[in-house]
Amino acid sequence: MKTIEDLGDLAGQRVLVRSDLNVPIKDEVIGDDGRIRASLPTLVKLAKAGAKVIVTAHLGRPKGEPNPKYTLAPVAKRLGELLQPEGITVRFASDVTGDAAQTAVQDLDEGEVLLLENVRYDPREESKDEAERGALADELAALADVFVSDGFGVVHRKQASVYDVARKLPHAAGGLVLAEVDVLKKLTEDPARPYVVVLGGAKVSDKLAVIDNLIAKADKLLIGGGMVFTFLKAQGHEVGKSLLEDDQLDVVRGYLKDAGDKIVLPTDIVVAPEFKADSPATVVAADAIPADQLGLDIGPESGKAFAAEVAAAKTVFWNGPMGVFEMAAFAGGTKAVAQALTEVDGLSVVGGGDSAAAVRQLGFADDAFGHISTGGGASLEYLEGKELPGLAVLEED
Ligand code: ADP
Ligand code: MG
Repeated sequence: MKTIEDLGDLAGQRVLVRSDLNVPIKDEVIGDDGRIRASLPTLVKLAKAGAKVIVTAHLGRPKGEPNPKYTLAPVAKRLGELLQPEGITVRFASDVTGDAAQTAVQDLDEGEVLLLENVRYDPREESKDEAERGALADELAALADVFVSDGFGVVHRKQASVYDVARKLPHAAGGLVLAEVDVLKKLTEDPARPYVVVLGGAKVSDKLAVIDNLIAKADKLLIGGGMVFTFLKAQGHEVGKSLLEDDQLDVVRGYLKDAGDKIVLPTDIVVAPEFKADSPATVVAADAIPADQLGLDIGPESGKAFAAEVAAAKTVFWNGPMGVFEMAAFAGGTKAVAQALTEVDGLSVVGGGDSAAAVRQLGFADDAFGHISTGGGASLEYLEGKELPGLAVLEED
């Protein structure tokens, strides 16, 4: 894959960068700005090289039309605050490739950054029709001389600003994409052992393909979160009102049969009568969940057992919270696993948007982990062994 260095002298060049700036925003206030921060090094590098930096990105799902709820304006503001110490000015264009964008590009000075409005305001961005995507890619390409792909969180998407535009301009992978791919390679090609994978989160069906691919590679697969109950049910236990995916029971039974003792399930569960922060929580054995209760976290005994497996590993990949960490009473399992990851003597990787948010919310520093991935879906698809269009296209000339 070509790097920014391979693009030659960028002074005075217009560089279009696809970044992933898709951060949670509520009432115009940005929650976790991890993705904006992760995008900074590439933008700083290009600006310091004297490039005119034009950033395209998306926010949420505006479904192909302008919608003030999904404007990138607050992100431009935050980007400006974060780049101010570097002496870099950030401008904002109120459309994707229209008059505002074109005028702003004309007025852009060397070493400045221009953020274009939410690229998903344009229905062609996510079109299944190659010609439609190509037309938007042409408009984006007309704004720039070269393209840098740095939005790791979207490289699994065959979209105009990710895939098609790379075919229209000389291109390179940005530092964030290179760093993410480097870590994923370590997780799939010859990982240091023991290699422990921890999976949680809401749904088994989201993660089946990963389980399928990693079962062969990992030494242990620890299962927590909402998906636990489909596993417990597959073992013949009752799970009360817990999250359950009946249609996945056969697949899960197959994993339990094939994986032998590689799959580790919790032995105790925190249950409550309702999915509510103040619902009275109790700890029960994993094979004795009462019919009128639901499981909302792995229990303390399981948290300790999982933590011991994690802390003894040389390579750990963790995706998906162990419980409903958003509510304090059900955050214990996630906290125990996160703490253990910080103690790993080797490579520890956190993947998944909610998992990254969980470790930050629980007060852990980013640098306590080997790597926190900015791309949930993208890293999972890579680990499933799929080809990611936004990476494959960067290999082309
Ligand atoms: P990630 O974004 O890290 O990949 P997911 O999106 O798969 O993670 O899942 C995160 C969600 O899973 C969280 O919002 C959490 O509340 C939920 N969750 C975890 N355990 C349970 C459970 N036992 N029941 C219901 N939801 C759960
Ligand atoms: Mg999620």
